Amino acid sequence: MQNKADRIVILGTGGTIAGKAADAADNVGYVAGQVSIEQLVQAAPPLAAYLLETEQVAQLDSKDMDFATWQLLARAVDRHLARPEVLAVVITHGTDTLEETAFFLQRVLAPGKPVVLTAAMRPSTALMPDGPQNLLDAVAVAAQAESGVLAVMNGRVHGAERLRKVHSYAVDAFASVESGPLGLVEEGRLRWLGAMPESASALGLSRIAKDAKDWPWVELIQNYAGADGRGVDALLAQGVNGIVVAGTGNGTLSVRLSVALERAQAQGVRVLRSTRCDAGPVIGGVLPSAGALSPVKARVELLLQLLA
Ligand code: ASP
Repeated sequence: MQNKADRIVILGTGGTIAGKAADAADNVGYVAGQVSIEQLVQAAPPLAAYLLETEQVAQLDSKDMDFATWQLLARAVDRHLARPEVLAVVITHGTDTLEETAFFLQRVLAPGKPVVLTAAMRPSTALMPDGPQNLLDAVAVAAQAESGVLAVMNGRVHGAERLRKVHSYAVDAFASVESGPLGLVEEGRLRWLGAMPESASALGLSRIAKDAKDWPWVELIQNYAGADGRGVDALLAQGVNGIVVAGTGNGTLSVRLSVALERAQAQGVRVLRSTRCDAGPVIGGVLPSAGALSPVKARVELLLQLLA
């Protein structure tokens, strides 16, 4: 009878890590989501040291990540983590929306076993692809961490709450804002630099049970010089359910934008105010604050609140 948690399940969803270009020198003109998760595992031979299973959950460019795939992925992660023989789950993903997926999974599942997302900035066909090392590091972290949704890129371990993609091209594309990474992976060894932040309890899969095509419409807008309320009025006219506004500085809004958002709120549209600054919380103010969540994570949070 199998009673030891000794295997790691790797779920493939696509991304540049699974991308292919016609030319090995081309790190941008590739098509994402071309290589299967089995092939990605084979491309990192030291992974043979681990007991692995793979499942192809999706095969897309994460700029096109959608609610149906999130639902599928959350259910797959939950199903595998519930198996006593499974130690952890690793997910290969595109870098573009990785932080949103990580935060979504953390809020929905708050997993008691590690769930580690990884990705690559260069396609699998590159002269020096970063995917194989990132995948190997992610599996190593999955085997050594205890719980929660983490991301591993370029030898650094990030938590779902603070993780952000901060560079459009560099291999070192992710950062944990305000705190720095939670840890480092060095020759397969996980070295913690800080404690995992306290996280809220899981909302549960029941929260996202509704058919994905019926999930609320939450739009993201910004304050900037000359911002007025016309965009908000257009969204209201189209039936938006929630609006996250990335304010300037401490979530500040132009008078006209603020008035339009208060009008939207009075008409039943949920509004959440974040900041377009790269770091820091939104404190005080009239419209509800998203705390220190980035605008895209505030959007996930509002989506999940509206699904309640
Ligand atoms: N557009 C790609 C994706 O997010 C970028 C990447 O993976 O680096 O799937």
